[in-house]
Amino acid sequence: MSHQTDPQSTALRNPETSRRVLIVGGVAGGASCAARLRRLDESSEILMIDRGPYVSFANCGLPYYVGNVISDERRLLVASRELFHERFNIDVLTDTEATSIDRGARTITVRDMRTGNNRLEHYDILVLSPGAAPIRPALPGVELPGVFAVRTIPDTRRIRSWIVERGAKTAVVVGGGFIGLEMVENLIHRELSVAILEKLSQVMPPLDAEMAVPLMEHLSAKGVQLHLGDGLARIEERDGGGLVVVAESGARLPADLVILAIGVRPETMLAKDAGLKIGPRGGIVVDPQMRTSDPNIWAVGDVVEVQDVLTGQETVLPLAGPANRQGRVAAESIAGRATQFRGVQATAVVGVLGLTVASTGASEKGLRRAGVTSFEKVYLHPGHHAGYYPGARQIHLKLLFSVPEGRILGAQAVGFEGVEKRIDVIATAIQFNGTVHDLAEAELCYAPQFGAAKDPVNLAGMLAENVLNGDMPVADWLEIDRTGALLLDVREADEFTRGHLPKAINLPLSQLRSRYVELPKDRDIWVCCAVGQRAYFATRFLMQHGYRSLNLSGGYATYQAVKAAGLLP
Ligand code: FAD
Repeated sequence: MSHQTDPQSTALRNPETSRRVLIVGGVAGGASCAARLRRLDESSEILMIDRGPYVSFANCGLPYYVGNVISDERRLLVASRELFHERFNIDVLTDTEATSIDRGARTITVRDMRTGNNRLEHYDILVLSPGAAPIRPALPGVELPGVFAVRTIPDTRRIRSWIVERGAKTAVVVGGGFIGLEMVENLIHRELSVAILEKLSQVMPPLDAEMAVPLMEHLSAKGVQLHLGDGLARIEERDGGGLVVVAESGARLPADLVILAIGVRPETMLAKDAGLKIGPRGGIVVDPQMRTSDPNIWAVGDVVEVQDVLTGQETVLPLAGPANRQGRVAAESIAGRATQFRGVQATAVVGVLGLTVASTGASEKGLRRAGVTSFEKVYLHPGHHAGYYPGARQIHLKLLFSVPEGRILGAQAVGFEGVEKRIDVIATAIQFNGTVHDLAEAELCYAPQFGAAKDPVNLAGMLAENVLNGDMPVADWLEIDRTGALLLDVREADEFTRGHLPKAINLPLSQLRSRYVELPKDRDIWVCCAVGQRAYFATRFLMQHGYRSLNLSGGYATYQAVKAAGLLP
């Protein structure tokens, strides 16, 4: 079908408005930009277009609509077309796709998706917020009925109907990142039996492998089948109905429905065709005011490349918080203010069947990829509140910091309660260029049911300070099979018997003061306990008696995670 382009722009200029601002994409970044701009500028005409049937809907709520946690679809609609018009005098065209940009004439061609008709819309200023599209690999079967990606409300409607109409009992989620895991949780709410197929050897790729172990154990305990280190080869129809997901290994996973959640790709087609500068990570290049290589065009959200404040490298980060803030920055810039976007640090959280996983800043593998070597790390496993108050639950926490400055580089945490609170505190410290000393000193809420007088955040800072000032040198778990050091386990004998490091000797902390002379002074001694605390006490004692002692941070709990992650032979 070919459609005529109407050369007459519908945009007959309103003589009372100073300029026409056209926004492509009316959800997180686009809608924030439109609303903020109106608050700053009553005189511009603002038109927002979206190819979908809605603007300003809660993409982040979509998995929970599939899971029936949100049962009323209307709850996903944050603001309607009518509200934009009545409250903000912002015009909205839905079911309208921008298909090309003529930068010279300052027009875009738009297609009415209902009629197929094209027409031109004039702009003085154009804002692009088209988001990122789920990746659909060009593999056999990915277009079969019953294979879904999750991006829009209509997508979730189709998944809901499929579950009901087909009486779906089994699902395969391809991809174990945020969206994949949220879909796992919600399909389990719908009482489906779920398998994850993930190409990497871990779920939640932003985490360091050992930090993903508690999550993987939790998923397994909840009955989720994990097929890790295995990619998608194809999807086939099953005799008698249903699908089979065939993995690269040849494994065949039957499924009544398949969710593809293997990542997203910035929707840069419009920008590329218009000759806007695209960066090495595949996103539109923007300056700190979110302006593209064309001075009349701004871009925000999942489609842009932004600077990672920790590594200094360009990155794409498809998250709602940055998209919203960038929309606001673009509006301020369009309104003539000097506001700048300060970059991203990848603060994120996901809840999976009761477990919370959160992270901020760089991971250890990210630092290594970026060529950063002058950093250290500590692991700790404190309770989420004071141990004497009933119900304390462990948080597994890893903190990365620069050496010798102690600048906080990143943190990851996994646990049941209080996880995101700790990561948010550390994220805020990072935003202020904070150091581990700031974490040690942070004055945080404390009453027994909420935290501890030394909150996990304080403890992380104190441990890191001890490393920096030489009070507690740490040994690297990844060296444990190669080291010539004596491995000393200072737990009690019964704990040691239940499991210990290969080649470790046992001298419990309770006997150390009377027996320490048995230890060699001419070798490094790497000290291990359950979570790192007794090993710290032992390290301090031994160092003050002339021994070369280092703590194996995080203790046997961390060893087990490092081992389970396959990081040790
Ligand atoms: P979007 O919000 O995706 O909006 C882009 C809009 O542009 C779309 O409506 C699209 O139809 C429209 N469009 C594209 N091209 C055109 C065109 N040519 N013409 C007209 N319209 C066009 N982030 C979090 O931080 N936390 C979460 O918990 C979270 N959960 C998520 C769950 C799901 C299922 C999904 C899909 C995303 C989730 N995200 C989450 C990511 C977050 O939603 C995005 O980062 C954010 O919405 C990006 O905003 P954006 O404005 O760049 O794009």
